[in-house]
Amino acid sequence: MKADLHCHSAYSDGTLPPAEVVSQAVDRGVTLLALTDHDTLAGVSEAAASAEQHALTLINGVEISADWAGKTVHIVGLNIDPANAALQSGLELSQAMRIERMELIITALERQGHCVRDSVNQQLLPGGIVTRTHIARALIDQAVVRDMNRAFKRYLGQGKPAYVNSDWPALATVVQWIKAAGGIAVLAHPMRYRLGTNRLVQLVEEFVAAGGAALEVVTATQDANQVRRCVQLVQQYGLLASTGSDFHSPDQPWARLGSCGPLPASVTPVWEQF
Ligand code: AMP
Ligand code: MN
Ligand code: MN
Ligand code: MN
Repeated sequence: MKADLHCHSAYSDGTLPPAEVVSQAVDRGVTLLALTDHDTLAGVSEAAASAEQHALTLINGVEISADWAGKTVHIVGLNIDPANAALQSGLELSQAMRIERMELIITALERQGHCVRDSVNQQLLPGGIVTRTHIARALIDQAVVRDMNRAFKRYLGQGKPAYVNSDWPALATVVQWIKAAGGIAVLAHPMRYRLGTNRLVQLVEEFVAAGGAALEVVTATQDANQVRRCVQLVQQYGLLASTGSDFHSPDQPWARLGSCGPLPASVTPVWEQF
C-alpha cells in the first residue's frame, strides 16, 4: 500500500485536472489518495469518478487555510462529506475573501507597473479558486521574475510590495467545519511554519484542544530530523499520523505524487480511522 493524502489539482493551485492527478498517482504506485485542494471541494467528484476507473482508493479531502495567532496555517480535512452544509458555507467565505484579496493584489502590482489580470484569469478553472500561486505564474509568464520562489520573495510574500493580508477563519473554526463534515482534521506540514519549539507545541496544543486529531508527519520535502520531531509530537499528544506529497505540478520534481515515503512504524496511520 502506498498513501498520498495531500495534493492539488487545477481547481486550486495545481496544474492538472483531478482525473489527471488520479491517473498520474496510479502510474506512480499510489493506492490510497486524497485530493486536498485549497479551500475548495470543486475537484472532489471528478477525482472520485476517475478513481473508479483505477485500482486506487480515493479519500475526500480539502486543505483549509486558517488563522492561528496572526499566522496562516493549513488544516487538511480527510474523509469529509463534501455535501456537508457547514463545511460548504465556511469554504464559501474563504473563496469570497480570496476574490477580494486578488483584486487588491492585482491593484498593488499595477502600481508597480505589472498587469497580471488576463494571465491570471486564463489560468482559472470554472468553479475553482484563485491563489497567490496563479499570480506568481503570471509574473513568471511575463518574465517579471524567473521562478515561483522569486515571485514570493520580491512581490507576494509577507511584507513585500504586493502582499495583502488574508482574513482566514480561526483555527478552531476550521477544525469544527471538518468535524461537522465527519472528517479528520490534520495539521498540515507542521515544520513549514518556521515556529520555535515552544510556539510549535503551543500550536499543536491549541489544535488538539479544538478537536484536531492528526499531524502530517511525512511530506515530500521533510528531512529525517523534521520527521522525528513530528513523531515526538504525535506520541506526546496521542495523535494519528498522515503522509502527503503536497504535489502541485509535474514541473516541481521535489514534490511528486507518492514521493512522500512511508510512515514510521512507531505511529498510528490516520487511515486506520477511515
Ligand atoms: P494563498 O493560499 O493564495 O495565500 O497561496 C499560498 C500558496 O502559495 C501555497 O499553497 C503554496 O502553494 C504557494 N507558496 C507560498 N509560498 C511560496 C513560495 N515561497 N514559493 C513557492 N510557492 C509558494
Ligand atoms: Mn498551494
Ligand atoms: Mn499547505
Ligand atoms: Mn498543499
